[in-house]
Amino acid sequence: MLHKILLMGPQGSGKGTQAEKLSTKLGVPAFGMGQLIREEVATGSETGKKLEAISNQGLLVSDEDAARLLKLRLQKPDTQNGYILDGYPRNLSQFMAFDFDTPTHVIVIDIPRDESLKRLGGRLTCSACGKVGSVHNGIKVGDSCSCGGKWTQRDDDKPEAINRRLEIYENDTAPVITEYEKNGIVRRVDGVGSLEEVFGRIIGVI
Ligand SMILES: [Zn+2]
Repeated sequence: MLHKILLMGPQGSGKGTQAEKLSTKLGVPAFGMGQLIREEVATGSETGKKLEAISNQGLLVSDEDAARLLKLRLQKPDTQNGYILDGYPRNLSQFMAFDFDTPTHVIVIDIPRDESLKRLGGRLTCSACGKVGSVHNGIKVGDSCSCGGKWTQRDDDKPEAINRRLEIYENDTAPVITEYEKNGIVRRVDGVGSLEEVFGRIIGVI
């Protein structure tokens, strides 16, 4: 069976972890746009150099370039039984550019905003080694990491920044989901619960 799955969900929905679990279970690769860009940059190709220059200037990769990368990735033989695309397309213009393949399932992991904030709000990063931890695991800002560095909260992990990103997700991604709903391929899954519980729900709708 073909599994061309788009996995959608706000930050903190556990989407990345579910994509990996699903990849193992179904035997199809999982990737997101960020990963495709990093891989292309790592090859040192002309496209990779161009993408690197764009990112170095703090600019976003264009929808056309992103679509081209995705198109090439979907031509690799490991996608013959499908793929899991993590968090793409995230807005209508990316949706429009993604006109060269048809997903079989769009799985939306729904999670209330409070829950996203709770999960993301506690994230701490070690200023020395970059390791990620959580206040839910008993550490706090200023504590020492095992490497000797200090745990800090990045600006990105502060509530205002998280709220802003959640709003962007809600505004930009909802119209994409509406478009896929016209094809009857959208499945909404409750993202509240343990990773295993949510994974069970996802398996139940594919
Ligand atoms: Zn550390």
